[in-house]
Amino acid sequence: MTIRQLPDTLINQIAAGEVIERPASVVKELVENALDAGARRIDIDLEEGGVRLIRIRDDGKGIDAGELPLAVSRHATSKIASLDDLEGVATLGFRGEALPSIASVSRFALTSRRQGTEQAASLDVDGGRVGDVMPRPHPQGTTVEVRDLFFNVPARRKFLKAERTELGHIEEWLRQLALARPDVELRVSHNGKPSRRWKGEGDLLSEVRLHEALGEEFARNVLRIDHAGAGLRLHGWIAQPAYNRASADQQYLYVNGRAVRDRSISHAIKQAYADVLFHGRQPAYVLFLELDPRRVDVNVHPAKHEVRFRDARLIHDFVYRTLQDALAHTRAGAIAGVAA
Ligand code: ADP
Ligand code: MG
Repeated sequence: MTIRQLPDTLINQIAAGEVIERPASVVKELVENALDAGARRIDIDLEEGGVRLIRIRDDGKGIDAGELPLAVSRHATSKIASLDDLEGVATLGFRGEALPSIASVSRFALTSRRQGTEQAASLDVDGGRVGDVMPRPHPQGTTVEVRDLFFNVPARRKFLKAERTELGHIEEWLRQLALARPDVELRVSHNGKPSRRWKGEGDLLSEVRLHEALGEEFARNVLRIDHAGAGLRLHGWIAQPAYNRASADQQYLYVNGRAVRDRSISHAIKQAYADVLFHGRQPAYVLFLELDPRRVDVNVHPAKHEVRFRDARLIHDFVYRTLQDALAHTRAGAIAGVAA
């Protein structure tokens, strides 16, 4: 076979294979874009578990009409311009891949009005074929519509699950997001009916949202954590040992606001609980680690589920000691008969 350059649409479809697994991945990428654009309110309309339709509308800063074709081009991003920017990146996105990937495997429309401009415009992309920019009314902000996900990739479409299951994945991801961004209002509808509303409640994760996201029992059994040192800050909530789970289903970890999985930090948390949990039981927590973005590499995984720390050992020990201290206090309190 001769070597040939692949067409752009196919390149985008291959990239989509890495980042777009199911409707929940589309919701994640689009909501992250809305957050990066400074949205205060995000409306998410879904049909048939997101397979038929995902429509995400935000009130962020918007995209200039002239830049709409760039927004759906591969490796085009407004978020970084150099390796130095990448190393200190503070936005959720930076790869410039989500929109072209999604647009190559769906019937896609991007409509936006840039802050401070009068002209709103729209661009349709059908299975990767990019149309013309057309004027279309829109308030400040952006709406992205994704219809018939994987209509042109039967192999992927086959792996989609029942509507309830796909919706469940979307809801779980939105819960993860809502915990990290209590300042943003999220409204979700499914098949034309409002299904969930997260009210924007100010800057700090309130107990109200914690309660809404993880249930009353969790909220009643938590310890508030907030500890800083060595340029690190760890804050959030951990469950008292008496509240524990059979599975790791209530473990939320964020690094600089991004939900991640990290083996070393999970290990540190497990160690801290080792003496106070029965074997095989899992702790529950919502923890935020903040550090200088230069100390953590977020460009490890196309979907950015994992990060790499420059000083992983130090961070492991910091998390371990912070939690161990907090848990030791509860035991001391319990022994002295002090109500926690
Ligand atoms: P990335 O987020 O990695 O930059 P995307 O493909 O997700 O790549 O988006 C490409 C670009 O389109 C972004 O850099 C941003 O400039 C613009 N964009 C996408 N979604 C929005 C949005 N909701 N509001 C404003 N700009 C957006
Ligand atoms: Mg993005």
